Amino acid sequence: MEKKNNPSLSFSANVNFMIDRALTVLKIDTGISNSIKTCNSTIKVSFPVEINGRIEVFTGWRSVHSDHRLPSKGGIRFAPIVNEDEVEALASLMTYKCAIVDVPFGGSKGGLLIDPSKYTRDDMQRITRRFARELIRKGYLSPATNVPAPDMGTGEREMAWITDTYKQLHPEDINYLGCVTGKPVAHGGIRGRVEATGRGVVYAIREFFRHADDVKAAGLTPKLGGKRIVVQGLGNVGYYAAKLLDEEDQSKIIAIIERDGVLVNEDGLCVEDVRMHMNQHKTIEGFPGAVFSENIAAGLEIECDILIPAAMEAQITKENAHNIKTKLIVEAANGPVTFEADDILQQRGITILPDAYINAGGVTVSYFEWVRNIAHIRFGRMERRHDEMRGAQMLKVIENMTGEKSASWMQKELAHGADELDLVRSGLDDTMRNSYQQLKEIYQSNDNVHDFRTAAYVVAIQKLVRAYIDIGVY
Ligand code: NAD
Repeated sequence: MEKKNNPSLSFSANVNFMIDRALTVLKIDTGISNSIKTCNSTIKVSFPVEINGRIEVFTGWRSVHSDHRLPSKGGIRFAPIVNEDEVEALASLMTYKCAIVDVPFGGSKGGLLIDPSKYTRDDMQRITRRFARELIRKGYLSPATNVPAPDMGTGEREMAWITDTYKQLHPEDINYLGCVTGKPVAHGGIRGRVEATGRGVVYAIREFFRHADDVKAAGLTPKLGGKRIVVQGLGNVGYYAAKLLDEEDQSKIIAIIERDGVLVNEDGLCVEDVRMHMNQHKTIEGFPGAVFSENIAAGLEIECDILIPAAMEAQITKENAHNIKTKLIVEAANGPVTFEADDILQQRGITILPDAYINAGGVTVSYFEWVRNIAHIRFGRMERRHDEMRGAQMLKVIENMTGEKSASWMQKELAHGADELDLVRSGLDDTMRNSYQQLKEIYQSNDNVHDFRTAAYVVAIQKLVRAYIDIGVY
């Protein structure tokens, strides 16, 4: 096949080849499958901003892959390498991702060509606000139709600027806070959004380890505790995933790969300390109690139980796939394994939990945030005290019946009304568990599905086809 000889498939070609596998399993009509795969629209904007008395022109894109459900949803990345194809590929991943985790949105993505480290905070604010204005004026950003979120190089700060820009242009829109997600909590954000993608990765891994047959098929021993894990990228997603695995699951993070090198400690790194070191020194080099090497390519090839690429796309390719020495790859980043590498890894019996499922925690909690913004009320505000009161009454009844004072853990559990963070985490956990089970059902029931990625896309495409058939094409 031609694709096998092509040295550098584009990102969208990689995604589409993977989707084709699922379409083959489902034997879907070519017309419908083409309409599912095709990107609906992409806008390119170029705009000038004055930086230090000089005019600089910036270029960005926003792509809508699908709008069968509105709004279309997907992050905005600020990166020195970003292009139309990448943005379209990421937008298509958002469509499949939302379908897999039952988030009722279409798929979109945006990117601005910029190296944020080269600009001051004030410059970044002017550039972000100007980019947002372009997208708003051209119909690519609003609470009803297209809602961005953070991605590489963007965070709460940028989301707050974008919200304010939208509010200034549309002061009459009562739902203006829903124009982006991932905002600071004080500006309409939701508790638990910053950590959501990394936490979702961990909830998914925990669910995997609840399925003894899947764990055994991957060649792993039963418990997550003690597993030797390598993480690539200690940014938003990688940091929270690694931190939880380290602190709550007693796994060993034996290596962290960053832009500038690899830190290794076979006894396990303290993720919080590494992150503090990185924030302080702008590098992981010099972190005490670990071996540092500049050879980041070799980092991915360290022998381990679980490899979590959480940095960027195309990190495991046909060039290094033969050298990967892990049993389980957890795709926390978008597109870290190319199509050709995926083939090689499957042949080598390495299990892959795919990006479209694994990193869907971000859009799941973004969905909660959007609902909160549209509802104009924080989750748990109405019922928390009421639940606490009922819990306290129940405790009293138990104590009256037993004649004994209840244990303090029981008092803590029963007399606690769920607050917003509890509810967000509960909804996220539920979503990651249910979605895993949907993938597994397909995996088990269909003889032509041999991997979790195809299973995930089969789940997504079945739901999309249903939506397309119900709506009709006209
Ligand atoms: P980020 O910018 O916060 O972090 C990325 C980290 O990776 C940085 O620390 C960076 O230094 C490091 N990095 C970059 N290139 C590297 C390389 N070649 N080797 C090792 N480290 C490298 O970005 P993020 O938000 O954590 O996103 C990471 C990935 O997760 C991206 O693929 C993104 O699309 C995906 N993702 C993010 C979210 C989210 O909510 N932030 C949601 C879904 C998917």
